[in-house]
Amino acid sequence: MNSVSLSKIRGHRLQLDILGRLIASGRHGHAYLFEGPEGVGKLTVAKALVARLACWGAGSSDLDPCGHCRSCSALEHEDHPDLKVLLKDGVSIKIDQVREAIQRLRYDPVVGRVKAVLIDAADTLREEAANALLKTLEEPPPATIFVLVTAKPQVLLETIRSRCQSLRFADLPEVDLAELLVEQGQARPMAMTAAALAQGSLTQARHLCDPGRLAVADLVASFALRLGQDAPATAAPFTDQLLAQFASASGEEKVRRDLAREDLVLALDALRAVLRDVLMVQCGQDVQRLPHARHAVAVQAMADRVDPEKLAKGIELCQRLEGRLQLNPNTKLAWIALLVELGTLLR
Ligand SMILES: [Zn+2]
Repeated sequence: MNSVSLSKIRGHRLQLDILGRLIASGRHGHAYLFEGPEGVGKLTVAKALVARLACWGAGSSDLDPCGHCRSCSALEHEDHPDLKVLLKDGVSIKIDQVREAIQRLRYDPVVGRVKAVLIDAADTLREEAANALLKTLEEPPPATIFVLVTAKPQVLLETIRSRCQSLRFADLPEVDLAELLVEQGQARPMAMTAAALAQGSLTQARHLCDPGRLAVADLVASFALRLGQDAPATAAPFTDQLLAQFASASGEEKVRRDLAREDLVLALDALRAVLRDVLMVQCGQDVQRLPHARHAVAVQAMADRVDPEKLAKGIELCQRLEGRLQLNPNTKLAWIALLVELGTLLR
């Protein structure tokens, strides 16, 4: 496991305050549930928390580990025997992964002050794996900490949830996302555009820091701003153009026949982002300060001609399709149907 320090984490002030107080009190719990949107850094915070709790040298009011005790050194070498992160193996977390992690907890910590098991995407725990975990959560060995991380807490067994202290995370503010991308080496203009389109997710923002993907988002924005004015029949040819753009963004020569799910998510996010900008203009925001300032004339025109309630409904339709993606085998058809529906709605 590698980790950053709690004090270096951007955003999540409230959550970090709560954790800081828990650390200072010395009465941290043995099981936490970090819940909140995908890609906002929940696992990063979980790693930073257990790195701090495993440290021998930090003072009680220090948010960060000391950096030189034997626990910190092991972490520095990415070889900490007491801190284990379980990630999905394929589509789920398997019973063997949970068993192996729990086995280790029977013994005293080797180098750290505590032992910890972090479970990412805890909602993918198979039933038998969840039951094995539950037994240990009911009677945790001493000096043990579990952190379950999930974007879908409702999927977890109620018996597991009730044994964890829950900490809710929210989307990362746009400005924090942009700064994180710049810190990670992105050029500022690209970072700002990607952050604006990423709906609060760092994972999505990183994904968008790519000229090809941003070109796709721009293409969607241009089309979206004409919704309600063009004939419904333009949705299909536009989608073919979009498929070609996706193919060229990933350097493929062959024409794609269907939208990959992750491509549809990008297109839906881009669509939502531009409709949101139009709504913001209707709420009095200066169009030049919004992510779609380069489409200022078209954004203003749509703000003048479309009812805000219809825009809000349009954003909801995009969200609904995104929520149903797993159930939708034909992504291209679903996308075209959405564009046609929006065309009628925003007339
Ligand atoms: Zn230390």
